[in-house]
Amino acid sequence: MNNQNKIRVRMAPSPTGFFHVGSARTALFNWLFAKHHKGKFILRVEDTDVERSSEEMIKAVLEGMTWLGMDQYEGPYYQSKRMDFYRKYVDKLIEDGKAYYCYCNPQDLAEERKAAYANKQDWKYDRRCLSLNAADKKKKEESNAPRAVRFLIPEHRVTYKDIVYGEISKDSKDIEDFVIQRANGKPTYNLACVIDDHEMEITHVIRGADHIANTPKQILLYEALNLQKPEFAHLPLILGQDKSKLSKRHGAVSLTWYQEQGFLPDAMINYLALLGWSPGDDQEVFIKNGKLDIEILTERFTLERISSSNAVFDTTKLEWMNQQYIMQLPRSHFKNLLKPFITEYDLMTAQEMENKTDWLQEVCDLMQPRLKVLSDIDKQGRFFFKEDFEYDKAIEKHLDEKTLATMDKFLAEMQRIESFEQKPIELALRGFADDNSIKARELIHPLRVFTTGNTGGPPLFATLELIGKERCISRIEKILKQKKEK
Ligand code: GLU
Repeated sequence: MNNQNKIRVRMAPSPTGFFHVGSARTALFNWLFAKHHKGKFILRVEDTDVERSSEEMIKAVLEGMTWLGMDQYEGPYYQSKRMDFYRKYVDKLIEDGKAYYCYCNPQDLAEERKAAYANKQDWKYDRRCLSLNAADKKKKEESNAPRAVRFLIPEHRVTYKDIVYGEISKDSKDIEDFVIQRANGKPTYNLACVIDDHEMEITHVIRGADHIANTPKQILLYEALNLQKPEFAHLPLILGQDKSKLSKRHGAVSLTWYQEQGFLPDAMINYLALLGWSPGDDQEVFIKNGKLDIEILTERFTLERISSSNAVFDTTKLEWMNQQYIMQLPRSHFKNLLKPFITEYDLMTAQEMENKTDWLQEVCDLMQPRLKVLSDIDKQGRFFFKEDFEYDKAIEKHLDEKTLATMDKFLAEMQRIESFEQKPIELALRGFADDNSIKARELIHPLRVFTTGNTGGPPLFATLELIGKERCISRIEKILKQKKEK
């Protein structure tokens, strides 16, 4: 290492599938740790498995990192562009007698393994290619048989101190001579990871606990190559509500999905930070001046505060967190963030939003404290914009003859309200209730459902004002008419 004191960490996604929220958590912990120590955060794309890697996924990772505000990294480095570079380490291991060529057909070995497992027996590669005599070896070479390279596992107990999990120890007898270079010349994950962590001068490997099984293998490689080992910190697994490992079965696990739903990056960071880490007190929300207080989060973030107990991904909590951030956004910023959702759900065109900018701001002001995610604007606020909103089935409760007659009569009262604003509307309604000896709420509840389709929502009189007189009247008339026709 050139600089002993400089912290260098990395996030090393394999670009297969999608950008999982668990990978985003790994990225975040590395990023916070680097920031805390004024070190470097490196992004390395582990794409040696070319067939399974996709451009689209790489794009999702890079965009996701930018969205989360974690775009000050060194890299991205691509393993696929460094292939030759791994080979010299493999050659050295072969030369030193610490690795050997294996000519076995991987499919045949997979069959053997399957058969052994079916008989409830363990199976480990039996080193048959290590014991090939010179003549057999020559024959294999001459026949141009594909050859992989296997690491010759030395006999030895591997013990290391994980920063999160404490001492971890494994007998190397339980590790088979794993392949470090495939027959196509490409390195496998463990080899490429060790070489890159070494070459990139990584001081701390911070990654998911699902890699704990790889770490002894990697330590043996460091030792065989005589390289200095980094520190290891494995992060607790993220589970779904049913306590099994978080997967698609539990619903959305891709970061892009959360972005599309209208979760705010600040809320996402805040929530992910608490998945396995705690600041040591009760503080959960790190907001300052309407945004994530990244300074304080960075200051408080230490690896020692990461727990080894698995974390549960709780969408309800994440929604709550998101709402805390939405509520504190400056109002015009909230409006700007909401605009793409308004167009996406065809609530208004960009031109209409421009023409009715004050009206839109007022709608936004009413909805801002109520939305858990920005896309909820369609479900919860469609009635402000469109006539095709859905009616809650609770409307049935308000379709009795007495209520309908009252609503019918109140319509005439509504027609008479000259300036259709919240105060006059409220006065008219309360006066009407008094005159007709009914309680105001007997009118308020049906009025809300008839005009908004919902049983709850923003303050009613302000809502009616924004819907406007004409639309309120026509919505009520429509329901009365439908009822009469039945
Ligand atoms: N490429 C590995 C993964 O996506 C990460 C490996 C590591 O962090 O060492 O799971």
